[in-house]
Order: sequence, then C-alpha cells, then structure tokens
Amino acid sequence: MAGTKLQSIRGIHDGLPAQVRAWHRVETAARKVFGTYAFSEVRLPILEPTELFVRSIGEATDIVSKEMYAFTDQGGDQICLRPEGTAGAVRAYLQGGLTRSGSQRWHYIGPMFRRERPQKGRLRQFQQIGVEMFGAAGPLEDAEILAMAHRFLSELGIAGLQLEINSLGCSACRPAYRDALVAYLNQRADKLCETCNERIDKNPMRVLDCKVASCQAELSDAPEMVNHLCEACESHFAGLQDGLKALHVPYRINARIVRGLDYYNRTAFEIVTDQLGAQGTVLAGGRYDGLVEELGGPATTAIGFAAGIERLAMLLTEQEAAALDVAVVALGEQVISYSLQQADELRQHGFSVVHCGGGSAKRQFKAADREGARFVVVIGEDEMQTGVVTLKNMATGEQQQLAFNSLMEVLQS
Ligand code: ATP
Ligand code: MG
Repeated sequence: MAGTKLQSIRGIHDGLPAQVRAWHRVETAARKVFGTYAFSEVRLPILEPTELFVRSIGEATDIVSKEMYAFTDQGGDQICLRPEGTAGAVRAYLQGGLTRSGSQRWHYIGPMFRRERPQKGRLRQFQQIGVEMFGAAGPLEDAEILAMAHRFLSELGIAGLQLEINSLGCSACRPAYRDALVAYLNQRADKLCETCNERIDKNPMRVLDCKVASCQAELSDAPEMVNHLCEACESHFAGLQDGLKALHVPYRINARIVRGLDYYNRTAFEIVTDQLGAQGTVLAGGRYDGLVEELGGPATTAIGFAAGIERLAMLLTEQEAAALDVAVVALGEQVISYSLQQADELRQHGFSVVHCGGGSAKRQFKAADREGARFVVVIGEDEMQTGVVTLKNMATGEQQQLAFNSLMEVLQS
C-alpha cells in the first residue's frame, strides 16, 4: 500500500549510528582482551540445519520447543536461524577437521535469533560475543576463561557486576542428584507453577531457576548439585575456585545456576547485574565436555561463554560521541576547490572531516555545530593566499591562525 510505513518485526531493532558506536566499544574491548588470551575470531553461518540445534540444545528446552525461527526452504531442507553460537562452533570444528590440531580458542560476534517475548534487554534478534575453547582439560582452563570474561567486562568499566559459579556435575553424579531433586519436587508439585510442573519430568534442574516468587519459596531447601558431586567433580570445582583465587577474580557460588541448555556439565557460570531487572544476566556459559562427541566427533573437553551485546551496551554509562574531528568552512566560491583539497589532506592524515559545502558562514557554522565537530577550520581568500587556516576549537571558542603543518600538531594533541 502506498504511503503506509513498514515497521521492523517486533523484538527486532535497528542499529542506528549512536547504538552501533556503543556496540563497537563492546566489541573492541572483547577483541582486545580475548586477543591477549590467544583467542582467534571465527565467522560462522547464521543459517544452520535445524537438526543441529535439536541434537545439541535438546528438545526439552524453550529454545528448541518454541523459540527457533525454523523453516523448510525451497529445496525441502529444514533450516534454522541460529539461536546460539556453540552448536555451530562445534559443527565447524568437526567439519574443519581440527580435532587433532591441539587446543582451539575461538571467539565470535554476531546475531542470534529466538522468538521470545520481547522486553527491555530481551530481543528476538540480538547479538552475542562468545568464546569457545576445544581441548580445555581441567579446572585451570575454566578459571582462565572466567578471568578472561571478568577482564573483558572490567575493560568496559561496568560497575556492580557479580560472577556466580556452580557445578552441574557429570553423568556419574547427576542421575542420582536428579532423582533426589525429582522426589523433592514431586512432594511439592501442587505448590509449584504450571511451567515447573511440566519441567519436573522433562528438565527438573530448570525448575531451580524459575522466576516465580512462590516457586522460589518452595525451593528454599531443595537438594543442590554442589552437595551431590562425585569425587572427580568435587575436585574439579575446588580446582576452579583455587584458580579464581590465584587470579584474584571475585566470585560467589550460586547453586541455582542451571543454564537453559542441556549440554553443560561441571562448571556453569553467569555474570549478573541488578540493573536490568529480569534480564540481569549479561554473560553466561559453562563446560560442555559431551557435546563434540554427541555431534559425531571424538570425546573432547570444551568450555565457552556468550555475552549479550545489547545488554552490555545498556550498562555503558558514557555515551559514545560521534568522532568528527574537523568541519571545514569555506568562505567564498573561489576557495571551494582549495578547501576541498585541504579537507582531503586532513583525511589522509587520519582525521575525520566533513566539508560544510560553502555558502553562508552562518549556515556552515551551524552545520559544524550540529555535527558535533571538535574543531572548525575556516578557509577564506586570505587564508588561501597565505597558506594558513583559521582554527576554531568548538569546546573553548578559542580561535587561532595556523600554517597547515602546525594545524596537524594542534589537531593531534
Ligand atoms: P536469559 O536467562 O536472560 O534468558 P539465557 O540463559 O537464555 O539468558 P544464553 O543462552 O546463555 O542466555 O545467552 C548468553 C547471553 O546472551 C545472555 O546472558 C544475555 O546477555 C544474552 N541474551 C540471551 N537471550 C537474549 C535475548 N533474547 N535478547 C538479548 N540478549 C539475550
Ligand atoms: Mg533465555
């Protein structure tokens, strides 16, 4: 229909310039910090076979049972927009034949898709920065990965974040714990919400992180995995904590962390804030030693995490200003080509520059101001004759005449 404005899909937002500047800041911190831990970036497909997520994330999860954007393509293939990054990373690791290449340390940045109920900090298309490490045998790797996550968020200067850790046990100790938990939950089933009741049989550990207050009250003395760990898991969990202490990473044990996805074992963790309401988890992850084998590869230890870029960007206190160093104001028709050349010269020295297009001085200064230029370079006929420019510092109002070389020095400082 002509004239009606099309809107983006609910829960799917545009990244306009101010937003993307904040995202870049998050991404720059991630690349810098992950690089110092020798992680390399990978770029993996957004479309994957639906089967990949059904097999890895598990059918009993919200993601697979109701949140995937899955469809049949024109050739009859079952395709899905990826809801998370780990399954695709494991697929790529196997397909790339890297299982005998020693440890692989990867990070990625990109969009994920989940058809959730949109809220502040909960979108249907959102971006994650994630890391995966294949061949991460022991608790020290866990501690280092957690230290890396901690440093990444410190680098962003976000205050009030808390690292919470838990152990989810392994196939040796989890079944007995699961039975104890199911027995406990069944005794209180009539007091738990409908969703919890559905989960008792399908995915009982997920009952533990139910957000309903009356359920939480019922769960106050529920059995906890950390008290049912086998010897190997117990010593892994202790080793992790020793490592965190050695690296001076503050943490707290939260026995309610279960992770939404089925494939985690042993170490699970979240970094949370109290500033985003129910969307308070900014980074989450854990160990998934069984997944590579589950997807057809050799037994491989692995650990990873993902952080939501939009949630982190919401916590950045300073606005990212547009980086405009110089606006060039040209006074008079005869200086237009000369001023274009000067603008170009400045760009070749790495400054961001807009040319205000000539015309009245008033209009050009107004434009420079609206663009948020740090400096205005004024070029009139006199300046052109004598090879100088008039430089105005927009923050202080200070004005001076300078030769082009000295101009560079002032701008650089
Ligand atoms: P939540 O408990 O908030 O639903 P989750 O356990 O589903 O999070 P993960 O699958 O572990 O989250 O994803 C890691 C991170 O990705 C989360 O901590 C969060 O920062 C971000 N994230 C997850 N889902 C969304 C979403 N729908 N919108 C925005 N960010 C999200
Ligand atoms: Mg979720």
